[in-house]
Amino acid sequence: MSVSSFNPPVRTLMGPGPSDVHPRILSALARPTIGHLDPAFVQMMDELKSLLQYAMQTKNELTIPVSAPGSAGMETCFVNLIEPGDKVVVCQNGVFGGRMKENVERIGATAIMVEDDWGKAVDPDKLESVLKKNKDVSIVAFVHAETSTGVLSDAKTLTSIAKKYGCLTIVDAVTSLGGSELKVDEWGIDALYSGTQKCLSCTPGLSPVTFSERAINRIKERKTKVQSWFLDLNLVMGYWGEGAKRSYHHTAPVNALYGLHEALVLLKEEGLENAWNRHQLHHLALRDGFEAMGLNFLVKPEHRLPQLNAVGIPEGVDEAEVRKRLLLDYNLEIGAGLGALAGKVWRVGLMGHACNMKNIIFCLGAIDSVLTSMQAPINSGAAVSAAKLAAS
Ligand SMILES: *Cc1c(COP(=O)(O)O)cnc(C)c1O
Repeated sequence: MSVSSFNPPVRTLMGPGPSDVHPRILSALARPTIGHLDPAFVQMMDELKSLLQYAMQTKNELTIPVSAPGSAGMETCFVNLIEPGDKVVVCQNGVFGGRMKENVERIGATAIMVEDDWGKAVDPDKLESVLKKNKDVSIVAFVHAETSTGVLSDAKTLTSIAKKYGCLTIVDAVTSLGGSELKVDEWGIDALYSGTQKCLSCTPGLSPVTFSERAINRIKERKTKVQSWFLDLNLVMGYWGEGAKRSYHHTAPVNALYGLHEALVLLKEEGLENAWNRHQLHHLALRDGFEAMGLNFLVKPEHRLPQLNAVGIPEGVDEAEVRKRLLLDYNLEIGAGLGALAGKVWRVGLMGHACNMKNIIFCLGAIDSVLTSMQAPINSGAAVSAAKLAAS
């Protein structure tokens, strides 16, 4: 067998992530690799840290990218803040809350669940009543933007309730960072993790995290060693810590960090609030298009996540066949439903660089034409003009 270079097809990525990577980020990734203790690299790391602080709206000293995907950022927060025997409240309204529970249990701690239906936001009243009944809980964990359902929960309110009961918060902001309002310091979030491949439009494989002073104190006061050597923040800090003599912990993914640096420079150039507004306005145009076509949104308007649109599948349509045709005939990727929503919804992402009118018109036109050719019960030909009208 002869093997040659791999040349991936050029797709438009409008699923739950990864999203389209900005060309400036791709070219940053191709710059020469230098040593991860090289002074030029260390300077880049310092800039990266302050760009992340901007994106997360925090002054937290411990704000770094974990060298692994969002799931590793999740695990970093859980293994460092929780010890065996602890009691943790986990709010679940989709797939990712379930993974939080799994993390808590693998540590040997107890997860007390606050459950809401898939497609609904985390209910602050339910959280409060669980905290009232369980005085020995010291951590509350929840997902800000549930990518499995397209729901944005009220992180500010949930955090303030956790604080009222003396709890620290762990927040999943993998899909919200760079796409929806997120203010770590103002809202009082203690530990937060994100990902690079959603609204930052960077390649997958890094997980920005941030920890408050209170969170760091809790880590310092641990009675047991962090169960993961690689994710133990006491050790990672020796490499990323300000002023600390950088000591070898693991080889940083040098070029991937160039990519993240460029992604954050792009975000800063646009302005954080402009990026949030862009996601919201484009979501409204996409919504008008889908509704004109006759497709319905899963989530109530007030809880919709602009960057992830969960829309119902028309009666009698083979949804996997539609996605297959979109990919093969249009080079367009959209997402399937996950877990309880498998076969019930499509998940259309409008993340970062992929969130623009050209993509919206392309996506609506392609879905319209595939569904029309399958004789699906939709209003053919209405979606694109409705989206254009919304944007005008
Ligand atoms: C994508 C995602 C993750 C996991 O990130 P990976 O980079 O795939 O490990 C976690 N939480 C949410 C809400 C996500 O959307």
